[in-house]
Amino acid sequence: MKKCVVIGGGFAGLTAAAYLSNSGFQVELFEASPKLGGRAYSFYDNESGSIIDNGQHIMMGCYKETLEFFKLIDAENNLLYQKRLRVNFLKENFNLIPTKTFPLPYPLNLILGLLNYKAISISDRLLFLKFFLKLPFVSSNSLNDLSVFDWLIKENQNENIRKAFWEILAVGALNTNIKKTSASTFALILKEIFLKGNKSATIILPKFGLSETYCNSAVDFIQKRDGKINLLESVENLQINEKRIIEIETSKRKITDFDFVISTVPFYAAKKMIPQLKYPNGFEPQYSSILSVHVWLKENKLKEDFYGLINSPIHWIFNHHDHLTLVISDANELTEKSKEEIFELISDQLKLFVGISKDEILNYKIIKEKRATFIPSKEILSNRPDSKTEITNLFLAGDWINTGLPSTIESAVKSGSIAANHIIEITGN
Ligand SMILES: Cc1cc2nc3c(=O)[nH]c(=O)nc-3n(C[C@H](O)[C@H](O)[C@H](O)COP(=O)(O)OP(=O)(O)OC[C@H]3O[C@@H](n4cnc5c(N)ncnc54)[C@H](O)[C@@H]3O)c2cc1C
Repeated sequence: MKKCVVIGGGFAGLTAAAYLSNSGFQVELFEASPKLGGRAYSFYDNESGSIIDNGQHIMMGCYKETLEFFKLIDAENNLLYQKRLRVNFLKENFNLIPTKTFPLPYPLNLILGLLNYKAISISDRLLFLKFFLKLPFVSSNSLNDLSVFDWLIKENQNENIRKAFWEILAVGALNTNIKKTSASTFALILKEIFLKGNKSATIILPKFGLSETYCNSAVDFIQKRDGKINLLESVENLQINEKRIIEIETSKRKITDFDFVISTVPFYAAKKMIPQLKYPNGFEPQYSSILSVHVWLKENKLKEDFYGLINSPIHWIFNHHDHLTLVISDANELTEKSKEEIFELISDQLKLFVGISKDEILNYKIIKEKRATFIPSKEILSNRPDSKTEITNLFLAGDWINTGLPSTIESAVKSGSIAANHIIEITGN
């Protein structure tokens, strides 16, 4: 039986380990931290007595690889699926603008949904629709030199449309200012979401805390197939001889009994762990932060599961009923502010948008994820490394490798599956 070592226990590592153990490999996974999940995990918060996520994660119907992974590990029922796309946008003073697709055949349902978007004027809706009608004919290559902002301006998407729709969608999906992100990636995402049928545009949420939603099922799946998972054991060094890894040094031991290695750690960690590895010229990702504020209220009057806020520094409010999670993407500047300053900002916005005053807030917790996602600039996207490396028994995975997708769960899962498949193909398992 061939043995494969997987380094890192986020979505990419768990996916690679699950696919390999399912194909009869002996798998051993090393995770440096005390928990699995990487940048997508949950934990018990002593102060509030609740399980909370490090940050709200949403998936979409177009997350094909992710949904297959959930099916493989028997965790499909841990997700909440929308039947049809529905997003509640919110303007100041609890001005709710529910937006949904209609129960009509695709794409008529989507077109009507867009035409009914009451956050913008009728003439702006027509400009908006025109953009969507052109989308199937847009080639991503033609957008290579444009930012999302440039593209929207070129297509007459004025400030109202940008603020009421595009910025919420683009900043949510890419976690970066639309002036910094490549239009070609955004076009690709829009096509995946809006041009692939009814289900693709629907939103999928974790039913439980993230760890319970997928980490526990992945662990069961891997362990039932004799896989080993080591927590609190980081890989420190890989010894390479004649283009093969011959020894792995962890924080606890040295290992030589393996055939293949998949590294799923983020780029900055991979550079430290395998300094010998060469990356395409110009590949040096910059990162963007996400700030999550969990808020417990005396009484929660919000009814919907989530809201997209128009013209607010808070992009989304997720309603977990026992508490709210406020999400601020593209938050590099805000993460430098103090807890008190952040609380002032979010309490002002809660008052303004949903009428919740400061004295209704029982408790709050701020989580700053400084390197939440890499910034999908043109330079980075055109230089992403492939999974195969010059070291013959080493494969790379992680949301940053060349999956064609931005820094998302779907990219991480796809990368794990690509790396596992390379090994399965080589060995003919
Ligand atoms: C707050 C937040 C919100 C997000 N929201 C969304 C969303 O709504 N939708 C979406 O699709 N994506 C979202 N993302 C992005 C998504 O979480 C990531 O793209 C994905 O989790 C990356 O998975 P990964 O396995 O590639 O990397 P990671 O999750 O970073 O996993 C890498 C693992 O490697 C471990 N490691 C590092 N060095 C070593 C070493 N030397 N030895 C052993 N282990 C090591 C790390 O501890 C970590 O567990 C969000 C991210 C954040 C932070």
